[in-house]
Amino acid sequence: MSLFHRDSESSCQGMIQEIARDVTRSGERIHRHALGPSIMDAMSRVPRHQFVPADLVNSAYVNAPLPIGRGQTISQPFIVALMTDLLCPEPDHTVLEVGTGCGYQTAVLATLVRQVYSLELIPDLADSARERLLRLGFNNLQIRCGDGYRGWPEHAPYDGIIVTAAATHVPGPLVEQLKPGRCMVIPVGKPHRSQQLIVVRKSKNGQCRSESVLDVAFVPLRRSLPEH
Ligand code: SAH
Repeated sequence: MSLFHRDSESSCQGMIQEIARDVTRSGERIHRHALGPSIMDAMSRVPRHQFVPADLVNSAYVNAPLPIGRGQTISQPFIVALMTDLLCPEPDHTVLEVGTGCGYQTAVLATLVRQVYSLELIPDLADSARERLLRLGFNNLQIRCGDGYRGWPEHAPYDGIIVTAAATHVPGPLVEQLKPGRCMVIPVGKPHRSQQLIVVRKSKNGQCRSESVLDVAFVPLRRSLPEH
């Protein structure tokens, strides 16, 4: 079933072409000339206009980050697609996301894997994302309000971990909760300064290797609620 009206469907196709162009432009740096067809298919099936504030609906399919309130953002579609591709999701995977925000990346992941667990620090964002994703018919995800630095040990180990806020370092609890042989995708760097998108691969014997993929700009991973 399509979750689109005809106008938004054609805007979404424009966004998909923009993502493909960005991938080509950054090809050398990201070591790929195209993203997996299943990733592009998931990006074309999630209705981004349902995840942005009402006054920004007309910009929903622009390939740019947008404000979602509480000083937070919905990530740029190219970055959502790239991070999802780097995670190598498979239909039988269980994935942990840190930084639910409006739930857009959560929805893209839930389209591709068996189960998504997502943590959001700000209670109103967690509540509205949960309500939105239920309304859109997603039933293979759980959202909890809490500090994602500590992960969600009850459901560990995970087949993949994705962090959508910039950490100053790779959180130890998240490394522990990752299955050997799998990877975590995380922006690392100083708040509002230069940040790198990093892929952390955990080998079968539990050792980790990190690879930097791209310069990025994310809101910071906080350890306590931002002031109003
Ligand atoms: N995944 C979103 C991006 C959200 S922006 C998307 O699809 O567009 C990053 C989010 O991380 C914000 O909502 C912010 O509140 C949240 N965040 C920041 N620090 C956090 C922490 N320690 N634990 C959980 N969420 C956190």
